[in-house]
Amino acid sequence: MGASDGKAPAIVVLGKGALATARRIQQLYPDALIHGMAERVDGVDLTYSGFGATLRQLYQQDTPIIALCAAGIVIRTLAPVLLEKGAEPPVLAVAEDGTAVVPLLGGLGGVNVMAREIAAALNTSAAITTSGELRFGTCLLNPPPGYALGDLELGKRFVSDLLSGESVRIEGAAPWLAQAQLPEDEHAQLAIHVDYRERDPSAHELLIYPRNVLVAVEGSLPDPAEAVKTALHDSRIALQSLACLVANSGEMANAALHAAAHALGVPLRFVEQTSATEIAQQVLPQLLPPLTPMKGLAIAVAAQPLDVKRIGRSRGRLAVIGLGPGAAEFMIPAVKAELARANDVLGYETYVRMAGPFRADQVLHCTDNREEMQRARHAFELAAQGRSVVVVSSGDPGVFAMAAAVLEALHESDNSEWHAVDLAILPGVSASLATAAQAGAPLGHDFCVMSLSDNLKPWDIIEKRLDLACQADLALAFYNPISRSRPWQLGRALEIVRQHRSPQTPITLGRDIGRPGQTLRIITLGELTPEQVDMRTMVLVGSSTTSVFPRADGSQWVYTPRWYGDKPAK
Ligand code: SAH
Repeated sequence: MGASDGKAPAIVVLGKGALATARRIQQLYPDALIHGMAERVDGVDLTYSGFGATLRQLYQQDTPIIALCAAGIVIRTLAPVLLEKGAEPPVLAVAEDGTAVVPLLGGLGGVNVMAREIAAALNTSAAITTSGELRFGTCLLNPPPGYALGDLELGKRFVSDLLSGESVRIEGAAPWLAQAQLPEDEHAQLAIHVDYRERDPSAHELLIYPRNVLVAVEGSLPDPAEAVKTALHDSRIALQSLACLVANSGEMANAALHAAAHALGVPLRFVEQTSATEIAQQVLPQLLPPLTPMKGLAIAVAAQPLDVKRIGRSRGRLAVIGLGPGAAEFMIPAVKAELARANDVLGYETYVRMAGPFRADQVLHCTDNREEMQRARHAFELAAQGRSVVVVSSGDPGVFAMAAAVLEALHESDNSEWHAVDLAILPGVSASLATAAQAGAPLGHDFCVMSLSDNLKPWDIIEKRLDLACQADLALAFYNPISRSRPWQLGRALEIVRQHRSPQTPITLGRDIGRPGQTLRIITLGELTPEQVDMRTMVLVGSSTTSVFPRADGSQWVYTPRWYGDKPAK
């Protein structure tokens, strides 16, 4: 597998001296991002503060790593995590000045292919040390996309037999081996066998399966994974040759089919035909025998490995995500993964920019903050085409943000394609929680979350809720406390609060929390004026039990105790 068909590599530089080489490598892999040490290198795509943590995280996320530094540094850094992993991403060390390219890890992930590509781009040679690769010019255990290796352990023995001087014959079509320097002999005992049919492995054979088989499945099929396995076995077709499952578009939301595709490790594609036989015939008009129709499924075999992306379409995905307050370390990993797989990203421009950087192939749709319903419908239109779409909100998407708008758009729609989209809401750290954490625990007991914006609700309902929440002695979190078009509302809200709470009530003001230039202020209700607050501020109002005490550094802690009423005995 070359880098081009997996994840885009990360190019990691330690200092300025490596930037020119990094850029040359980036020309080779345009989707790759250059990661640079914060405060040491400018003009990179992403900055990091800890080199070790960054490298280990990339490795654990299966990102190919091109580190422009000494090989020893990379080895020492990754050593603690090496044993935890089975399959590993390619890891290479490249000399800062581009004169040396050293593949270190990921032999089965195509590291030597990458090393050669990079070395060619830098006009140097790759330090290939894998003996099979050196001798034959290819890694036999790492066939190209569209082909699957039968068994790794048997394969390793096969390659060591070859290295000990035996010759080999090739049975079946293996076009990528044409340029390899294999010791071919048609009478050889060792054979590389490329075929889609089931075959018991023998010690003298390297089995490689072309992924040229598709199974068309109907939604009514009970236990589809088992049915597919049985049908393939009965037709003497190897499971490793299965390239994809194909079903009717009406089955897009069929959980059993998705589970079956997942269990079989293949994609599930959708077409317009309904019966399994029709699907198979439509997708693969030039079949090899057998086309095996059975109840609810049909097997079709192509002459070549299948290009699955060109068969029908996939089920679209729409994820409504929360970025958290701003800083990358407060974004949940599921959201990062969702951003990485996105084809389209929609949202208010500030948040879309916060969610980046993006690759050249990702389409950004930046809109005005007010066009929520329109944005939600646009997202469904894109996802219904089979694309992977992300709608971004700051904080949590379910807190005065896009999740509710997206669900409302779906609820109002009778478009079955929209309802078939794989819709997920992924949470984020909301501004009230991010602010509270920095101040201590002002929301440590029951609290009430309110938006003070009367854009979408009448002002008198805000006053009523506020009054009742104050009567109930809840701590309060105000979102959207003030804006240019809503200048007087906060002052009025504070009048209501003051009818119930003492002037000593602790107030926490968090502005741009988790973003550059953040400020946190702890004052009292008596001191609070609307001028201290803007639309980027979170206002937390204490309850009657909220307390404040000094921190060692001169600032203050705020907390609302867990108990209420009489303090429990210790
Ligand atoms: N979905 C967001 C809230 C959107 S409403 C969330 O869960 O956080 C926008 C309001 O949230 C702003 O007016 C401000 O009151 C608050 N807010 C959002 N991000 C903030 C931040 N980083 N620091 C302080 N307040 C923030």
